[in-house]
Amino acid sequence: MSDAHSKATVNLSRRRLLQAGGALMTLLVTPVGMAQSQARILAVRVWPAKDYTRITLEGAESLKFSHQIVKNPERLVVDLEGVEFNSVLQSLPDKISETDPYIKLIRAGRNRPGVVRLVVELKSEVAPQIFTLAPVGNYGHRLVLDLYPTEPVDPLMALLEKRTPEEGAASTGSQTAIASNPQELPQISSPASAEKKPAAEEPVRTARNDAARGADKPAKPGRGAKSEINRLITIAIDPGHGGEDPGAVGHNGTFEKTVTLAVGKLLRERINAEPNMRAMLTRDADFFVPLGQRVEKARRVQADLFVSIHADAFIRPDARGSSVFILSDRSASSTAARWLAQKENAADLIGGVNIGVKDSHLAKTLLDLSQTATLNDSLKVAKAVLGELGGINQLHKGEVEQAGFAVLKAPDIPSMLVETAFISNPDEEKRLITEAYQEKLAEAMLRGIKRYFAKNPPLAKTNKIALLD
Ligand SMILES: [Zn+2]
Repeated sequence: MSDAHSKATVNLSRRRLLQAGGALMTLLVTPVGMAQSQARILAVRVWPAKDYTRITLEGAESLKFSHQIVKNPERLVVDLEGVEFNSVLQSLPDKISETDPYIKLIRAGRNRPGVVRLVVELKSEVAPQIFTLAPVGNYGHRLVLDLYPTEPVDPLMALLEKRTPEEGAASTGSQTAIASNPQELPQISSPASAEKKPAAEEPVRTARNDAARGADKPAKPGRGAKSEINRLITIAIDPGHGGEDPGAVGHNGTFEKTVTLAVGKLLRERINAEPNMRAMLTRDADFFVPLGQRVEKARRVQADLFVSIHADAFIRPDARGSSVFILSDRSASSTAARWLAQKENAADLIGGVNIGVKDSHLAKTLLDLSQTATLNDSLKVAKAVLGELGGINQLHKGEVEQAGFAVLKAPDIPSMLVETAFISNPDEEKRLITEAYQEKLAEAMLRGIKRYFAKNPPLAKTNKIALLD
């Protein structure tokens, strides 16, 4: 393209844009003749989810961009500067699913020399977050377009919506009444519901499996459980990784994030089938949730337990077996545990977090306040789950391990991280992808969880309210 020609094109498009109105004028700064070294887009990925939809553009070098929201109809206009319009960019519009919660469609094309314009037509108003990420792991330079709803999705409302009266009819009337009124949630353990339902029934029932295995005796009726057990026990299930962060990858190409989501969903199903329990997934689709937000979601629903599900790789392919980890307040219980925690904590880097936005992160003071008590409970439930996993798989180590996992840092929620098996072990990878084995894992986890709650009925939640801003 000759210089004169490109200048003419620029002038033409400039005139067109001027005619189009003032809204886009700020985008018009393109020096002529800079087209020689154009950045190449290597990959485009779209991760639609109710929480937010993410579009990732990956380039060989850092991508320059400008963007703005244009109204009537609502759309996001992104100009990529010094970028070649190649087949990868051309494929972007086809990657938008009709069911995407936020994006109607995308148009992509050359806007003027050296500038590619993406017009994202939106289904509703969004609060976009657009940022770049430096190369990490297998990724090059990433430009991330996150489209958040203007009203963020509230996990508590989502949880309550899911447990509709029809669904709740299977359980007791008092639970349904509680679930349908979000205002009442903090006072779930009401004396009225305690009267309607014999208190000790649930612990006895839940311990049936344990009795069959010759394990702990079921909790005795009247053991202070009358007012305590009579509310729904809320379990936060956290399928590890997701979206841009695949987690570990098996020899046959299995992504850890796929296995963790499958097992997480099965566990949710089983928990929701229990009359006195309900489950919340920190993610229910293939998208990335930063570690801090996973914890925040669990706290928002005042979870009684946080279970992070993983299936990691290890340095040695022959490493095998299940493990359960809890947070360590000191050093890690082993070198391997420390190594694994470091790897897990890097998820935010791989998954891609906008560091420009400060999360309302957990206050440090809170961590000190109640962490010791929480750790005791974490250890108890982790032991119960490890015991059950030992019934279906060999254990990597016979005891609960400890390390500084960021995702286990809720100060007031007993938390554990379950390494279901090693995806890096070809035998375990083969089993991990079968639904039969995933079901076994979910069932074993549920048995352990129920065993723990049968012996440690959850207390009234009133003392937790203060911690939820
Ligand atoms: Zn993992």
